[in-house]
Amino acid sequence: MNDQADDLRVSGLTKQFAGAAGTLDVLTGVNLTMQRGDAVVITGPSGSGKSTLLYIIGVLDEPTSGEVNVGGTMPLLLGAVEQAKFRNETVGFVFQDHHLLPQCTVLENVLIPTLAAAKPASDIEDRARTLLDRVGLKDRITHRPGQLSGGERQRVGICRALINEPLLLLADEPTGNLDQKTAESVGTLLLEVAAEQNTMLLCVTHNLDLAARFPRRYELTDGKLADVTE
Ligand code: ADP
Ligand code: MG
Repeated sequence: MNDQADDLRVSGLTKQFAGAAGTLDVLTGVNLTMQRGDAVVITGPSGSGKSTLLYIIGVLDEPTSGEVNVGGTMPLLLGAVEQAKFRNETVGFVFQDHHLLPQCTVLENVLIPTLAAAKPASDIEDRARTLLDRVGLKDRITHRPGQLSGGERQRVGICRALINEPLLLLADEPTGNLDQKTAESVGTLLLEVAAEQNTMLLCVTHNLDLAARFPRRYELTDGKLADVTE
């Protein structure tokens, strides 16, 4: 296969943490490729390195060695300012804890990642409203996060992650704080909206019900990815 065609290419990624008891080898050689429209899930027990891997791919952390290429850019080689721009424009993050700003409305929270971008305000607000409508929050746009249910807050987080039309959507335990029924509907929405936006979705979770819904599945074992897609 032509390497140039890969929208995400992770090669030979390793991560060690230095600790009092010696060196901790969390990632020992992770390789992964994805194209636009792909939805990949990585499972593994708590402490297996899922968040670490996701944060390195999203340039929130640095690897010990290895390469990450996103849409032809090597974000780990960029300077700090360019890295911040890359994170803002190319990557969307959905976290277990939504990290919404409590004093801002739903609409304002979705618009936060656009503050640094140069797009016309009216276009971007229309896009935010369309996304919020898509996830069923049309009637909640002036609510504050504290006035929403956990599932609603997570749906706002999904809209915020997608507002800048990222090439790559990274989700870390996106249903971790939700009850089973809400987790199921948020999982469905995440997969559907990512596909509609033609973004790559890379999700890490220990929730096997959520993982089972993804077309490509990997397990993080001994610091490496094993393909567990049936
Ligand atoms: P997961 O998301 O799969 O639960 P993490 O990626 O959060 O796992 O953590 C993987 C391992 O790396 C854990 O053993 C954790 O304690 C360790 N770890 C994570 N971050 C650090 C850090 N900043 N310093 C030292 N050890 C860390
Ligand atoms: Mg984690």
